[in-house]
Amino acid sequence: MTAYKLLLLPGDGIGPEVMAQVKTVIGALAETGLATFETETDLVGGSSIDAHGVPLTDAALARADAADAVLLGAVGGPKWSGVAYDIRPEAGLLRLRKDLGLFANLRPAICYPALADASALKRELVEGLDIMIVRELTGGVYFGEPKEITTLPDGTKRAVDTQVYTTGEIERIAHVAFDLARKRSGRVASAEKHNVMKSGVLWKEVVTQVHAEHYSDLALEHVLADNCAMQLVRRPKQYDVLVTDNLFGDVLSDVAAMLTGSLGMLPSASLGAVDDKGSRKALYEPVHGSAPDIAGQDLANPLAMIGSLAMALRYSFGLGEAADLLDGAITDALAAGARTKDIAGEGVNPLGTAGMGEAVVAAL
Ligand code: ATP
Ligand code: MG
Repeated sequence: MTAYKLLLLPGDGIGPEVMAQVKTVIGALAETGLATFETETDLVGGSSIDAHGVPLTDAALARADAADAVLLGAVGGPKWSGVAYDIRPEAGLLRLRKDLGLFANLRPAICYPALADASALKRELVEGLDIMIVRELTGGVYFGEPKEITTLPDGTKRAVDTQVYTTGEIERIAHVAFDLARKRSGRVASAEKHNVMKSGVLWKEVVTQVHAEHYSDLALEHVLADNCAMQLVRRPKQYDVLVTDNLFGDVLSDVAAMLTGSLGMLPSASLGAVDDKGSRKALYEPVHGSAPDIAGQDLANPLAMIGSLAMALRYSFGLGEAADLLDGAITDALAAGARTKDIAGEGVNPLGTAGMGEAVVAAL
């Protein structure tokens, strides 16, 4: 059997704790015979600053580039709040995303039946919720130039951010969304604001064209991003795959996150382009950050990190069966009552990080 090369970057705060549970799960998966991995571990973020003076070394980047997939825990924390902007912990993660060309950010928002009451919404609105948000990650207003604050002659200041999208950037993210939809319910909603933004006009035009040329068997709906935010709260189950730009994706995926209960439950994938050998660069990480407030106390929920491994199985290695098995183990562990503190609710005696990892392995 192929042993896939996984680079583990545990990072800072609760990153190493949740990554330890992934290592346990990787061991258990190997025993099932469904998936085996060769793992390497390196530093990123504050831990790399402490050891090397930079948040990502060239050597770690080269290892990430050579791996079949990268699994990242979390970066940052108060210990490094004073370091220079260019070498802050987050800069390590941004460099990884940029240098690996990870333009497609996939964020599933799944509401597990056992946790429907932990949602910000009523149970009937979220039970069975399964949305895949596809966010463009390397373009748009976060990267467009000019980006500056200047001082005007009268002494007041003027800030500029520039939203830029090209046909090619929109085409490739549209393909990712439609390809995913084909394996799901066949429905894509595309969110922009063509009524007030030129980039929205182009976005809508290009998505419409990609749909007509390659995916006319699928259903495409265009929705204004502000309306989409409202619909996500009003009737979230109307969406299946939701594709949008970097800025709107940032906001809408956080809205979707609160529909599901806890930040500690949400995995993500960031994917690059498919090369001529049919493979692509990929980084998998929990949506949550380093959570310094609970680090080192065996309190962190490892399910977002374990769910990120399940996404790697599915999207990098084509191991759908192993991914289903692992996702099923998470669902089963929750159904059997396993809870970390963030999802425990009142009167429930929660498990720690390691206890939750063991519950998933037992269910597996
Ligand atoms: P970042 O800037 O890195 O996104 P943040 O401050 O926005 O960080 P987190 O580090 O994710 O956010 O923490 C936000 C809150 O959610 C904290 O109170 C933290 O304890 C909680 N939290 C985050 N991840 C988990 C987890 N895996 N398990 C339990 N609680 C978590
Ligand atoms: Mg945050």
